[in-house]
Amino acid sequence: MTSIYRSLNLILLGPPGCGKGTQAKVLSEKYHVPHVSTGDMLRSEVRRGTELGMKAKEIMDRGELVPDSIVGSMILRRLDEADCARGVILDGYPRNVEQAGVLDGILAELGRTLERVIVIEVDDDVIVRRLGGRRSCPKCGRVYHMEYNPPRDDATCDDCGIALVQRDDDREDVIRERLRLYHEKTAPLVQLYEQRGLVVRVDGNQPVEGVTEGIVEALGTPLNR
Ligand code: ADP
Ligand code: ADP
Ligand code: ZN
Repeated sequence: MTSIYRSLNLILLGPPGCGKGTQAKVLSEKYHVPHVSTGDMLRSEVRRGTELGMKAKEIMDRGELVPDSIVGSMILRRLDEADCARGVILDGYPRNVEQAGVLDGILAELGRTLERVIVIEVDDDVIVRRLGGRRSCPKCGRVYHMEYNPPRDDATCDDCGIALVQRDDDREDVIRERLRLYHEKTAPLVQLYEQRGLVVRVDGNQPVEGVTEGIVEALGTPLNR
């Protein structure tokens, strides 16, 4: 099989709960490029109780955005690591126009290009049901849904056997604030990338496998190892 991409730098864009993390994990295995999630990186700082983590937690618990400078330096450091040389699947970054500019600068500096921006479209009422049922493993980060994607036993991780937890920001009032911020700050990026001809829209209101198929179809042939 020949590859149509020399590298694969992708952005997954869409409202909270549209399935970015879920799809990123599948795509990462399929295309052999790492899943880079600023949300996961920030939650890891929170778990480890670092200074950055303590500062970020308060902001995250309110559903607001962590300062651009903090996530910008995190993402620069991560993209400069060797495993990102052939591409990345970005999940949760960029989240506003300023961050999109920072990302352009980083990619230019590293001599990389952005191949596609996958926009996962999901209705707001679906989002609220998805985030309400979301649980994740505090050890490995694997994401479940109590109804749509339940763990094998009760409420423990299939891989680690420990109790799943609900994110502190998956509460109804915080979900509403995150959705509001998405529409205000993040959604304008769709237009920005559309002007560059990079956008592919996928219907996210369907089962996980259907969404994956839509993305893969839009991307074409997977990379060879
Ligand atoms: P979701 O996928 O549910 O939207 P994320 O895991 O991407 O959530 O993000 C959780 C929280 O982490 C956000 O609400 C925000 O506070 C913070 N965060 C993640 N990525 C960024 C970013 N690129 N810029 C600013 N804040 C971010
Ligand atoms: P995001 O990273 O965009 O915030 P997640 O991948 O964490 O979204 O998904 C949010 C919740 O919805 C999780 O509980 C996940 O298991 C569930 N989920 C993801 N994609 C789908 C889908 N296509 N259909 C039903 N549930 C889904
Ligand atoms: Zn686990």
